[in-house]
Amino acid sequence: MAARSFKKASSTFGSRTDVGCVREHNEDSLVVAPPLYVVCDGMGGHAAGEVASEIAVDVIAERAPRHPDAEALGRAVEEANLAIVRAAREGVGREGMGTTCTAAMLENERLVIAQVGDSRAYLLHKGRLQQLTRDHSLMTDLIEAGKITPEEARVHPQRSVITRALGSDPRTTPDLFEINVETGDRLLLCSDGLSGMVEDDEIESLMARTSDPQRCAALLVNEAIAHGGYDNVTVVVADVTGFAEARRRKVARKTKVTAALLVLLLAAIVAGAVGIFNFLTSNSAYLTDVDGKVAVYRGLQGDVFGLSTSELVEVTDVSVDDLQPGLANRLRTDGIKADSVEGAQELVQDYRDEIEERNRPSGDAAEPGADAAANPADAAGAGTPVDAAPTADPAATPPAGEGA
Ligand code: MN
Repeated sequence: MAARSFKKASSTFGSRTDVGCVREHNEDSLVVAPPLYVVCDGMGGHAAGEVASEIAVDVIAERAPRHPDAEALGRAVEEANLAIVRAAREGVGREGMGTTCTAAMLENERLVIAQVGDSRAYLLHKGRLQQLTRDHSLMTDLIEAGKITPEEARVHPQRSVITRALGSDPRTTPDLFEINVETGDRLLLCSDGLSGMVEDDEIESLMARTSDPQRCAALLVNEAIAHGGYDNVTVVVADVTGFAEARRRKVARKTKVTAALLVLLLAAIVAGAVGIFNFLTSNSAYLTDVDGKVAVYRGLQGDVFGLSTSELVEVTDVSVDDLQPGLANRLRTDGIKADSVEGAQELVQDYRDEIEERNRPSGDAAEPGADAAANPADAAGAGTPVDAAPTADPAATPPAGEGA
């Protein structure tokens, strides 16, 4: 017995093989490698049947086309036949060993089959079981010739005589079938250990009521054993998922790709925004009023998308009230922008120099006096070490007022 199976990607197929209750060896072999499914029932005695069926599944698994193609699948079966003939000549197994072969490829709603011997392919379509393959057996010949009934064939002493097998004649060719199936249909491949032990009606009802294909395969084998299990029994069940399933998978893949692209795009936008944000905040500064003093901030005034874009660098010793009125007003309302913290600090130094210049006691008293007179409030709140200006105010103002 050889079983080649792929790791199960979904629950669209299932298989089971069993030696049965009577035989010592399991000479059946199978392939479950979607879209390829094969059942081979070896014969020849002294385990040679096992050798023949193993050679067959190995060659077919290797040579089968990638997609359903009846001619190409037929050629793979012919190569398997030649390989068995050659092996027997070379002393592998025994002269006269052989095997049946039911090889199927199922993809979407397309099914092809290459058939030699009396293993079978059935299709469950709308709850009804139909046999797809024609047995190469003496019983089938006799039934078709009208000499016996199917019921008689079931108990006939020559019921296991087959008229075509792989391994006996290098010119053997398989029957080829190309079948359009429908989503919801279910394919069954089996050795005669099932079809010879269990009536088609029973197979039909079990297949129709067991939705999981693996469970279905197991239950069919159990049924053959319950009926006596006189032969090795092998079952492959594959559901036709059709175009709908293929399309669904394609759409799912497309959705995944789109989602991945969106995530990348979003990441790029965020990275870009962070970059711009960092650029703006590190390349700008501004001055504003904090508790009456000129303060230096790094960054941009206000929020961007609710994020604070600035941080306080320092609150200087320069009083806003000491600034020129227009400047003080701008600083209190809009703030005064600079292209860097250093630039902002230079501005503050300029203001400081200007204020000191303005308040410096000098020989020419008229200038500071006139300045102070223009803005007595400013001078009063200045808190500068120069007290000449405040004292000069009362003296300077009345004449100015009178003059006006
Ligand atoms: Mn058998």
